[in-house]
Amino acid sequence: MDAPTKTVSRGKVMTTYHGPHVPSHPDPDARPLTWRPGARWTDRERIRAHSCSCRGVVFEFVGAAGQYFIRRTTLQSHLIEETERMVSSRAEQMWADLFSGKVY
Ligand SMILES: [Zn+2]
Repeated sequence: MDAPTKTVSRGKVMTTYHGPHVPSHPDPDARPLTWRPGARWTDRERIRAHSCSCRGVVFEFVGAAGQYFIRRTTLQSHLIEETERMVSSRAEQMWADLFSGKVY
């Protein structure tokens, strides 16, 4: 009876693993990030973390060759965008700011 599922509204059953959400409405004074055209996968990259995909947009924290960036994928249009490459400390701060609505 303690299976890792729960029933949510509309009768939909979802697993309890539900990644975090990026706020749909960032803070009024939030800072826009620069999103540039991205590419799907290179074999050297690793996804360190990702957001929940239930809102149609997935954010991924990606490490590649000692550098880090955030990828934003809009599922319906398959639009893939990425931030610039950064050192880990800066990318981690940006990732945290994204989920707290300070950047978008
Ligand atoms: Zn969700």
